[in-house]
Amino acid sequence: MKIGFIGLGAMGFPMARHLASEHEVIVWNRTREKAERHSREHGTKLAGDIRDCANADAVLTMLPTSREVDEVVDLIAPALRKGMLFIDATSGDPNASRQTAARLAELGVDFVDAPVTGAIVGAENATLTIMIGGTSAAFERAKDILRLNGKTIIHVGEAGAGHAIKALTNSIMGATVWITAECMLVAKQYGIDMKTAFAVTNAGSGRSNASENLLPTRLVEGKWPLVFKLALHDKDIRIATSIAHQQHASTPMLALTSQLFTGALHELGDQADYIEVAKIVARMNGTEW
Ligand code: NDP
Repeated sequence: MKIGFIGLGAMGFPMARHLASEHEVIVWNRTREKAERHSREHGTKLAGDIRDCANADAVLTMLPTSREVDEVVDLIAPALRKGMLFIDATSGDPNASRQTAARLAELGVDFVDAPVTGAIVGAENATLTIMIGGTSAAFERAKDILRLNGKTIIHVGEAGAGHAIKALTNSIMGATVWITAECMLVAKQYGIDMKTAFAVTNAGSGRSNASENLLPTRLVEGKWPLVFKLALHDKDIRIATSIAHQQHASTPMLALTSQLFTGALHELGDQADYIEVAKIVARMNGTEW
């Protein structure tokens, strides 16, 4: 199968590599050097123009937000052909993706939103969990391609449903990271050793990915890697908040989480990692980790 892949960032670069193990993959990236490197290292075909990616059976986008996806769709729509499949793996906005699905349907192109979870390590090891919105037929087509990227591929509902659950589940993670950092700070101030505090938490009901993996790396080992931009996490929580607003839902925890993350983003800047919100938790208490 021929696949056009657009967006070779932290997630897209390894995802396109796995697809190339079985398919002919044509790559395009805004910063061309990355696409050149991908082509050189993984035998993918370098697109001369972004529209070359439409000369394929399927197009896959892995971009920051739905805004960039819309820009890409504007550019390549004239080159898309009836019967093609468009997979948007971006963690996008379900309202935007529903519109994109309708727009592409007019061209006879199937659309699925297929955001992923599992971080860069999951993209590298092809162990992502992938949540898909779209028709059952489009889901089956997308699944047959994305099985090279993930172990768990779930059909969530119609177009937009994948993006909706992705934003909601990342919001759960955001709130969990924040409250865990707060409680760990209090434990530290109380004089409890951080390693011990995590050991107890992880042996009990406070356990989460934040307490088992994300925070110990930073607060015990003192390593603060950039694995997922805070700007992207903030975007996910804002999407969740807007969905809640549309449903007229009462979600004070979600609203608070969104406010905290947006404040942290303004404080830490565009290039910060999402777990650096723990630094803000400490600063709010006049201290550092
Ligand atoms: P990166 O910032 O690493 O990569 C973004 C990609 O989008 C790059 O290829 C970048 O090109 C491209 N891009 C940015 N702006 C534009 C534009 N205006 N036009 C065309 N291309 C553009 O992000 P990630 O790979 O980390 O994230 C991608 C998506 O995956 C996001 O929606 C994110 O929320 C989601 N995600 C990320 C996870 C993670 O752990 N990192 C985990 C799960 C989901 P260039 O190289 O030129 O900058």
